[in-house]
Amino acid sequence: MRFNGALLAEVENWIDESRQMHELSIAQSILQIVQKHIPSGAGGRLRSVTVRIGEDAGVVPDSLEFSFEVLTRSTELEHARLHIEKVPLVISCKKCGDASTVEFPFFFCPRCNSRDVEIIAGDELQVVSIELADALEESV
Ligand SMILES: [Zn+2]
Repeated sequence: MRFNGALLAEVENWIDESRQMHELSIAQSILQIVQKHIPSGAGGRLRSVTVRIGEDAGVVPDSLEFSFEVLTRSTELEHARLHIEKVPLVISCKKCGDASTVEFPFFFCPRCNSRDVEIIAGDELQVVSIELADALEESV
């Protein structure tokens, strides 16, 4: 089977969109968490949200930033920035007991090459801090 250029481009767009949807729903969850934690009416003072994302969480940081921007655009949260802290993937080997930082997607122990490993860090998806401008600054 042969694909011409146009068809290939369509396939690529489709892949990008579905990926975007995933990050979009994560951005929505982040905003729900934020809104739960800030006082009502204080949305305009939201400066930044810091999230911690593991390398193995299946999230593309650029897409997440983009989704966050899209969702906050023209809302009271539009000046808020999303900071992303990436967490490296750390596995623990059940065979030799070694813990090591590995590059996604290589899930084997660099010391003994065993694949009997468990992830001990790098699959998190957390909102770690929410920064609000203080009321004084807001009135200036
Ligand atoms: Zn090992």
